[in-house]
Amino acid sequence: MSYDLSRFAINQITTPKWSMPEAIDGYARQGVHGIAVWRNFLEDYGVAQTRRELNAHDMWVPSLCTSEWLNISVTRNMSTAIDINRRLLDAAAEIGAGCLMMVVGGIPPDSKDIQGQRERVRDALLELLPHARQTGVKLGLEPLHPMYAGDRSLLNSLRVANDLCDELGEGAGVVADVYHCWWDPVFEQEIRRAGPARILSFHYCDWLVPTRNLRDRGMVGDGVIDIPRIKGWLDDIGYGGPFELEIFSELDWWTRPPEETVRVAIERCTPYVQTPSATGADK
Ligand code: ZN
Repeated sequence: MSYDLSRFAINQITTPKWSMPEAIDGYARQGVHGIAVWRNFLEDYGVAQTRRELNAHDMWVPSLCTSEWLNISVTRNMSTAIDINRRLLDAAAEIGAGCLMMVVGGIPPDSKDIQGQRERVRDALLELLPHARQTGVKLGLEPLHPMYAGDRSLLNSLRVANDLCDELGEGAGVVADVYHCWWDPVFEQEIRRAGPARILSFHYCDWLVPTRNLRDRGMVGDGVIDIPRIKGWLDDIGYGGPFELEIFSELDWWTRPPEETVRVAIERCTPYVQTPSATGADK
């Protein structure tokens, strides 16, 4: 049976020991040509040089991670954060990324007004939207697990991401991550509501029991998430976009040789990145 890795990307944060050129080469060498790019590695290596390296290895980029957070002090203007995000959209366009992963930030340091902050985030996204449309890079709204609401993101469910997309329209989409959404009783319903066009990328890892810290995500298959079932929903709606493996793992995968992480990632993810007709034809 032959497998197709054409929809599979590895998120660069999975192998943080590798620099940008090392990751590009390391993934390509094992047959993975998708790489989700992180901003710090991009800034270290340079946008133009990264683009050349991506081209030389025949790579594609589902997303640039992540946006500037929008949880700036309520006494300060949001415009600096919005400007940084405009520049990130430009950089994303230059490396051919499909979307900029919008991690919107948690509660501002001088506030406890969660509802008010959600409105500020919504307004900031509306302000950023014309530039996204202009660059052709979509705003990828990725809901994060509610345990991140304090610091990283006040966007915490796919339902709310879908509501925002309804409002934003063209130029915005959702990125769903099994780690953040698996527990949600309406996850399936909201995947169906989003439909194949709105889902810009789909993130895999696993939820470990016990979870030891905030950077303790598991390799696909090592935790409690029913990934075959979730993949079934995506096939059912005709999702044809990217699958990214994204693992934050201070205690395990980040400590291993990156080559090993990539090898195991391919073994574990291959069954869940196939397009159904291709898989059927191979059987
Ligand atoms: Zn993710």
